Amino acid sequence: MQDASDGRVLMLAWMDDEALRLTRETGEAWFWSRSRERLWRKGETSGNVLAVEEIRDDCDGDALLLKVRPAGPACHTGSTSCFAPALWRTVVERVRERPEGSYVASLADAGVARCAQKVGEEALEAALSAVANDGRLVEEAADLVFHLYVLLAVAGVDVAAVEDELARRVKPSAA
Ligand SMILES: [Zn+2]
Repeated sequence: MQDASDGRVLMLAWMDDEALRLTRETGEAWFWSRSRERLWRKGETSGNVLAVEEIRDDCDGDALLLKVRPAGPACHTGSTSCFAPALWRTVVERVRERPEGSYVASLADAGVARCAQKVGEEALEAALSAVANDGRLVEEAADLVFHLYVLLAVAGVDVAAVEDELARRVKPSAA
């Protein structure tokens, strides 16, 4: 499954003949769940259906590329894509499900302002570490990226939007 608008790879799933027939008939993606052994319509519980714009088959006919317009995050974690960085998928899932004892969940409960404050603190620590050359820049940068992910997730912004923005800024001549 590939986002028809920006080419982003969203997810991979299994189809059988019936799933393909239903997909063609309804214009929404249907799959075969090997674990549940049944057909399922993507978004049947989440509402995040995939409207199918185009179906292509590969050279030996054993794989299909679906170009879709997603109604919401394709991944069950709440991430736009199943192929987003693992850390992002984990953070989004914790923000969504707020498991007991999770640090991310406690930050999410505290709200956007608290998450923003943490990003500010971690950014300052990373900057000071770099200037002091104290050998802690990797740890401080990891703290910063982690808390930035939490802030984005709590603010309801997918990291894919940040990637898109960065991609827009790359000048063709610099590539
Ligand atoms: Zn996923």
